[in-house]
Amino acid sequence: MNCAEFQKVLPYIIESGGNAEEEAHLRECDVCSDLVQDLRYIAEQAKLLLPMHDPSPKVWDGIQENLQREGLAKPARARGRLLGFPSLPSLSIFLLLFAAAAVGFGLLK
Ligand SMILES: [Zn+2]
Repeated sequence: MNCAEFQKVLPYIIESGGNAEEEAHLRECDVCSDLVQDLRYIAEQAKLLLPMHDPSPKVWDGIQENLQREGLAKPARARGRLLGFPSLPSLSIFLLLFAAAAVGFGLLK
């Protein structure tokens, strides 16, 4: 079993644990065991967030507008460029989407 095969069945492994072959790969492979650990952590955090209700987007828009009017914040894009780092590394975005999909899958079951 290689990493690609392992990661294809990763959502099931996170849900219910893997079979012997998958467990063996997990023990031998730092990349995949790190990934599983990260995803479990993100999934746990995401579950904690679920009961919270996000304020309406208008609230955030209002805060952003107020900050901009008072000169405390520049539009997000300009600020990211100014400080010289992107808002989020693409790997993190991938992991978050993946975790969201895994959590969503778990909820649908
Ligand atoms: Zn691997």
